[in-house]
Order: sequence, then structure tokens, then C-alpha cells
Amino acid sequence: MISILGSTGSIGTQALDVIRGNRDKFSVAALSCASSIELLCSQIEEFKPQAVCVAKQEDALQIQRKYGNTEVYYGRDGLLEIASMEDCDMVLNSLMGMKGLEPTIAAAEAGKNIAFANKETLVAGGEQVMRSVKKNGVRMLPVDSEHSAIFQCLEGNSRSSVRRIILTASGGPFRGYSLQELENVTLAQALRHPNWSMGKKITIDSASMVNKGLEIIEARWLFDIPAEDIQVVVHPQSVLHSAVEYADGSVIGQMGNPDMRVPIAYAFSYPERLEMLDSQESLDFFSLKEGMTFYPADRQTFKTIDLAYDACRMGGSYPVALNGANEVLVDMFLHEKIRFIDIQNNLMKVMENHRPKYNLSIGEVLEEDMKIREEVRKMML
Ligand code: MG
Repeated sequence: MISILGSTGSIGTQALDVIRGNRDKFSVAALSCASSIELLCSQIEEFKPQAVCVAKQEDALQIQRKYGNTEVYYGRDGLLEIASMEDCDMVLNSLMGMKGLEPTIAAAEAGKNIAFANKETLVAGGEQVMRSVKKNGVRMLPVDSEHSAIFQCLEGNSRSSVRRIILTASGGPFRGYSLQELENVTLAQALRHPNWSMGKKITIDSASMVNKGLEIIEARWLFDIPAEDIQVVVHPQSVLHSAVEYADGSVIGQMGNPDMRVPIAYAFSYPERLEMLDSQESLDFFSLKEGMTFYPADRQTFKTIDLAYDACRMGGSYPVALNGANEVLVDMFLHEKIRFIDIQNNLMKVMENHRPKYNLSIGEVLEEDMKIREEVRKMML
């Protein structure tokens, strides 16, 4: 029984696709979405969850009237409720942004395994989340394609012999651009990712390379490895999803066609593997016309990568600041209130001026996040 937080988004709908193809193995305990009510209704009719959660009370009332047998919740408390409900063994967290933090902790505290597709939560609250995961003995199964790859490459190997993690990046739509060229890019260009079809926020993060920065911090917490042992390698074809190098020089990588349903399915079925032939054609090596190429990340143009390394190294509230500021700036860019380059320029400012706090509780992480968002909004007036 799986609960899906964020069931109408890109990961959520692909997760339901995996469940649809494996009805004998999985069923849906609960679904949640913010405002795509029409899509949620069709999901309720198809998957018959025990409970659902939406953002607004008025939507909850409307759904309750329509589906009398479904428990309907709303808002933050509702999310916590369905993240910890009894009839569910796994929670897929595919929420966007920091609102996933508390439900992640709630799921861990309730003993649920977590399929994890909400990197912002680990960036801001990695220490607290992983402590709770460990304390409660639950599994944290990465859904992010790179982290699923790393997870698979670590299976069956001794963790003490890991030399480095090779975190691959497609480079996004602006790979090869100079800093000057980045000044004039448009929203439409930024939303055109070459390899992956994803939600808007992560697509912008991929274009600015903030996504890769957040993934460095995500990997640091998921695999308990220092950021300096994580190397970003640009690999435009997105066929090698990431790799791990061991003490003896062996590099173990995970490859496949870029399709998020594969890491989702692996998180659901771990340690088994699902039959995915309906949706997954075999990787055709001979059709890789450009071959597989690898480049260092361009840190002169994309300063966001170093910002993430710095935030990770300095710890405390630095990653909270980076993440919170980025969420505000991306939202402003999506509403065409700022230019693309303003995202990274302002992130640099925020990080430079940040006065860090250490040893934060979950409550304090949330407080700090709110404070930073407020500061960034003021700064951008
Ligand atoms: Mg990724």
C-alpha cells in the first residue's frame, strides 16, 4: 500500500503509471495534490484510495460530497495525516519544495519506508530527516535518477571503500553558454529541457544548475559522504545516470534510457526489480549517435555549483538559505519578474550575507526558511 504525496505532478503521475502496470503488487493508500482537482478526481476513480488530501478546505468539501467513501483531508495537517496513516507501508514524497519536510518526518516516525523525490527537504533538513530515518529503522529509497543510480551502485559493496561519487548532469538547455549569453535567455528557453520532462521548478533548476547543486547536498545526506568526494560530471546524453568509484579503481555506473519510471519502480519494488518491458525498451547502444560524452561542469558560468559545495561545507542554516532563496527566485522568474541570471546573482548575495545558525530543530529549520524567503522578497522589491 503506497501513499503518494503530490500525485498530480510529474513524478506522481508516473508513479501511478508504474502502479497501473503492477496492480498485483501495489495499491494506493492515499493521494494528495495542491490544486489539480480534476486530475485528482480521475485518480480517485481509477485507484480508489482510502484517503486524499488537498490544499484548500473548499476543495476538500467538494471532493467529500462527490466521494462519500473516501476520507478527505486538507492543508498541512492533512498531509501529515496521510503520510502516517495506518494502512500504508510506503510513502512516495513527490512534493515540490520545503512543504515536504514535515510529512517526511511524520512518515519516518510512523515507521513508513519512504520513496523520496523531494530534494529540497533533504537540502534544508537533511541532518534532521536522516536522524529520524535511522532512529525509526525505515528505508529511504531515492527516486531522483542520479541518486537511484548511486544507491544501486552502492548495493553489495563496502561503504568504507567508496573513493568518490560521480554525479552526472545533462547540463540543461544552456550547456556551453558563456556568462554573457546567460544574461539574455528567456523563460521559454529555460523551460525547454533537452532530456527530461519534469515540473517547472525543477526544469528551471536544471537550467541554472541549481538542481545539480541541490543534488550534491541531497547525496551528501542520503549516502553520508562528504561533498568533496562528490564530483559533478556533465554528460549531455543522460544515459549514465551516475556512478561510484571504489578504492581499487573500479567504477560502477548505472545506465538506461532516461525515464523516471525506472527509479520510481525500483524504489517501490526494492530489492526486487519489476518487469518494465511494456514501458522500457532495451537501451540501444548503437543508436547513441553522439556516443557518450563527458565534460567538467562550467563553474565560471554556473556559479550555483560552487554555492552548493560551500553551503554543504559550511553546514548549519546555509543550505536552508540557499534552498529557500532559490524557491523564491525561481517563482519570480517563472512569473517573469526577474531575469534568469538574477537567480544566481541573488543567490550569491544571499549566501554572502547569510548569518548562519547551527544545530537547528525541525521547527527552527522551518522558521529560518520563512525568514530567508521574507528577506529575499524584500531584497527584490
Ligand atoms: Mg536528478
